This record gives sequence, structure tokens and C-alpha cells, in this order.
Amino acid sequence: MPFPIVNVIVAVLAGVLLLRVGMKILGGFARPVPEAPDPGELRRVRLTYQCSICSTTVRMTMANDEVPEPPRHCQEDMDLITSPDDI
Ligand SMILES: [Zn+2]
Repeated sequence: MPFPIVNVIVAVLAGVLLLRVGMKILGGFARPVPEAPDPGELRRVRLTYQCSICSTTVRMTMANDEVPEPPRHCQEDMDLITSPDDI
């Protein structure tokens, strides 16, 4: 081995390249963020959701729909625990 530092540089460059490729692949999985609706379209709601895995509970106070899509926690949709009659 004439010059070990060259090996280190090559290894670092290869690592950076792999990281970039990995980030690009991951970025492809990311869903585009939906555009925020006009403030007038937001409805006041009082919905309570609970995570079925860790039991984290959140309350939603504003939504762009009377029955909005549930938020996600632990990578799962949260369960609506408010009775639909109370909406
Ligand atoms: Zn959770």
C-alpha cells in the first residue's frame, strides 16, 4: 500500500455517494404534502383520537372536513374515540 490516505478518501466518497442514493430512494416514498385549505374552509371540530398501539390520545380542534382522515401515530391510523353523535 503506497498511500493509505487515498483509501480513506475513496471510502468516504463511496459512503457519501451511497448516502445520496439512499436519500433519493427514501425521498421517492415521501408523499407530497397536500396544500393547506383556505381558512374559511376549516371547520371547528372536537374529535378525539387514540393510538391503538401506544394509547397516545390527541384532540383535533380544526379540520377541513367534518369527518377528516385520522392522524397517524406509530405509523398507524389513530382510532376515533369520539362518538360520531357528538360531532
Ligand atoms: Zn402511538
